[in-house]
Amino acid sequence: MNVQARGANHPGNMVMLPFSNLRRLREERPLMFVKGKGIYTFDEHGRDYIEAVSTFYCVNLGFSDEELIEAAVEQLRALPMYPSGIHRTVPVVMELAERLAEKAPVRGGHVMFATTGSEANDQLLKFTWYANRVAGEPQRRKIISRRASYHGGTIATTALAGSPALQEAFGIPTGDSLFVSHPTWPIGADPGETEEAYTDRLVEELRQTIEAAGPETVAAFIAEPVSVSSGMFPPPVGYFQKVKALLDRYGIRLFADEVVTGFGRTGRLWGSETLGIEPDCISCAKGLSSAYQPISAVVMSDDFYSYLEEGSNSAGIFNHGGTYGGHPVSAAVALKVLDIFERRNILGHVQSIMPIWQKALASLEDHPLVTATRCFGLAGAVQIARPGEGGPVAASPSLAPGGLSEQLYQEGLAAGVVVRPLQGCVVLAPPLIITEAEIGELSRRLRVALDATLAALPR
Ligand code: PMP
Repeated sequence: MNVQARGANHPGNMVMLPFSNLRRLREERPLMFVKGKGIYTFDEHGRDYIEAVSTFYCVNLGFSDEELIEAAVEQLRALPMYPSGIHRTVPVVMELAERLAEKAPVRGGHVMFATTGSEANDQLLKFTWYANRVAGEPQRRKIISRRASYHGGTIATTALAGSPALQEAFGIPTGDSLFVSHPTWPIGADPGETEEAYTDRLVEELRQTIEAAGPETVAAFIAEPVSVSSGMFPPPVGYFQKVKALLDRYGIRLFADEVVTGFGRTGRLWGSETLGIEPDCISCAKGLSSAYQPISAVVMSDDFYSYLEEGSNSAGIFNHGGTYGGHPVSAAVALKVLDIFERRNILGHVQSIMPIWQKALASLEDHPLVTATRCFGLAGAVQIARPGEGGPVAASPSLAPGGLSEQLYQEGLAAGVVVRPLQGCVVLAPPLIITEAEIGELSRRLRVALDATLAALPR
């Protein structure tokens, strides 16, 4: 094939951006951000944007936090890099592991670091298969996840995404994956169905899925305490308790994907705490360093870890790792994040601001495009539909941002507020440091965007 003829000379097309339309990238300069302060970012033309989803639900402490910057610089000066591995590490990594193990709601606690949320979930799968081999149950390989969930972009985690279209697009093998419905209470309930009956129906679906697969072949159930990609539906009351009780009956592990919910998003440090559950393992990333540096972790229970320690080779070496897993600069920043949570009482602030957040979102319900709003901690969603139409609830909303929410996203950019469009809704998760006045400004800008979206609809 002639490379020149395939367009190698198009200067706007040199960078390939994730989750972007690559043809549009060829013709149009992407939005370029150059600065951030507090809950705001600024583009190359000096326009400001409220980051209403903390970019990718990650810059939880806002932009330009001097203490986080200092923590990174200090570590860069002392020792910019030393990989953790082959019985060597650095003090900040040890200390961070201790603090995470102490804080995470898993029984006991052992921590392995990685770089991204995808990688953390990926290694969790790898560890699970390893542990089950050591335990003499190599056939226990299947992982259950929920449709419309998202657990990462590696091959193994894409196989868990509750989105067949995504798996088909990349030809991902999904042989070890099982899928169940994601709760979308109250929209997904049958007419007249109570919250309890709805929960029981979903738990029964899970039971049947396990039975059909053969319980002895199922290793784990992975779930986000609240899922961005499914549209930020708070789980119905008792859902996770009943799921956990069922899994325990079959000896299936519960993994909480806290990549988004970890570090204060739900009003407690962990979403699992807010839900009152104790998973076997937790994965986290994003908020761990307030996304100032890439770092992720899995926190494992004593029981789970004991199989990894026992090992499967005579040398006793656990043969897994990567150059940047537990990077010292990232670990130093993450330690500072935990420190800031305590010193600045971030959780106290989130809890006190949550009712204001909820009220601000609910106040949008009088808008002709808004069919419902929902909140979970300092996250939420605005469900939208054309006047007179019901709000569609997609099986995998993250893949196909429908027309209306895409328009609202674009109008949001024009109004200076960045939201995340999914099919039938936009999701929100502002930096945790947001103030009452800033919530007011965020909802004002969102209303401007809603008005503009309505005005642009064909009559
Ligand atoms: N799990 C969840 C719940 C996520 O939302 C994401 C990313 N948005 C991931 C895992 C993957 O994290 P990363 O993008 O850091 O690989």
